[in-house]
Amino acid sequence: MTNVGAEARTETDLMAIVTELLESYPPSRTNPVEFWGAQFDLGLAYVHFPKGLGGLEIPPSYQELVQSELRKAGAPNNFFRNPIGVGMAAPTVFTHGSRELAERLLRPCFTTEEIWCQLFSEPGAGSDVASLATRAERDGDLWIVNGQKTWTTLAHVSRWGMLLARTDPDLPKHKGLTYFVVDMQTPGVEVRPLRQITGDAEFNEVFFNEVRVPDSQRLGNVGSGWSGAITTLMNERLSIGGNIAPRNSGAIGEALKIIKNSTHVTPEQKADFMKLWTSAEAGRLLNIRAGQTRSAGNPGPEGSVAKLLYAELNKKIYSFAIDLLGHDGLLYESYEMHRPDFTDEQGDRIRATYDLPKAFLRSRANSIEGGTSEIMKNILGERVLGLPGEPRIDKEKSWAETPRN
Ligand SMILES: Cc1cc2nc3c(=O)[nH]c(=O)nc-3n(C[C@H](O)[C@H](O)[C@H](O)COP(=O)(O)OP(=O)(O)OC[C@H]3O[C@@H](n4cnc5c(N)ncnc54)[C@H](O)[C@@H]3O)c2cc1C
Repeated sequence: MTNVGAEARTETDLMAIVTELLESYPPSRTNPVEFWGAQFDLGLAYVHFPKGLGGLEIPPSYQELVQSELRKAGAPNNFFRNPIGVGMAAPTVFTHGSRELAERLLRPCFTTEEIWCQLFSEPGAGSDVASLATRAERDGDLWIVNGQKTWTTLAHVSRWGMLLARTDPDLPKHKGLTYFVVDMQTPGVEVRPLRQITGDAEFNEVFFNEVRVPDSQRLGNVGSGWSGAITTLMNERLSIGGNIAPRNSGAIGEALKIIKNSTHVTPEQKADFMKLWTSAEAGRLLNIRAGQTRSAGNPGPEGSVAKLLYAELNKKIYSFAIDLLGHDGLLYESYEMHRPDFTDEQGDRIRATYDLPKAFLRSRANSIEGGTSEIMKNILGERVLGLPGEPRIDKEKSWAETPRN
């Protein structure tokens, strides 16, 4: 039986803390970094984390209540400034790192004073990231890292990276991995831009040449990196697809503006728009429900459902909107290389600065980043529907003996 009285008390107490935050740090007059610092110190960053580490030790389902009050009050959104840090690194460090690491890293991550990147994908390991080849070899209290990562979003502005590396090539691929946090300012870390179809270079190649990482920056046990990676990936999928935006915002909001301003809209186009709008609204409501019912700290396959839905729908919405624009949809402001740093004053304004043709091109990446749609379907088939898994001939074989790309 649920304890209704206790729940109501928790909610009342929580709302009092939210009110204290908003009254002491009015969003319109407070520097965003200061606001996020106060939010963290009051335990409203990740409500299920311990006190002193950004939380209040109450169930994670209460976080959505906080977010919704903050949205209504026009509070700045740190997610867009430090998406990998806030959405993925913080839950991973909390779940798998030592208390000392969590105390050192969580607050500046939440305030966005320290930006984070994710060092998983490699030229020969994307969907099958467990087959990665970057090596970390132990040398006393240090690990020496050599290898190459790719598609590393925001590495060019990051202070910290979440690194998955191979520490034992003789074990099967999932078992020989260890997880580290790496200071991106360490000698031997080299970041080079990779340019996208939009002209932007939001991601990078990262080279590791004899990089020395202290053992104190290891997350979890040696050889248990895959379990940490799963925490990161599940949170990544939720971060990408589980965003609860206000009704008629985001891609569907853009399409709505265009259809309202179009002089020639056919009945077929109206019907197509309504189908897209209904799917977008259903996805939004689904995310609200998933947020409210999440009882464990880290998300499960619902993040993959949200990610698949969002990625495919976003591409359809932008294709529809660009068609409505007609010739204007072909105009592109500039392909000059731009290095986004997501450090816009308000944090979340970055999205609003996207023009539509650019957003259309950028949306092509939605079904690749954070795991492709094909991989999301595999996960749903296997973990949600219980369908037979793909044949995995390399599951028990040593990584060193397995042929790779
Ligand atoms: C915008 C963007 C940002 C990114 N940011 C980061 C980042 O910050 N850090 C990071 O580590 N990575 C990042 N990535 C990399 C991303 O995670 C990989 O691109 C993705 O996992 C796919 O890997 P791949 O590109 O190597 O493609 P591959 O794995 O080579 O896949 C090629 C094709 O084969 C299909 N395929 C592969 N395996 C299967 C299978 N078992 N069943 C069915 N189909 C399959 C795929 O769906 C895809 O269509 C980013 C990617 C993008 C586009």
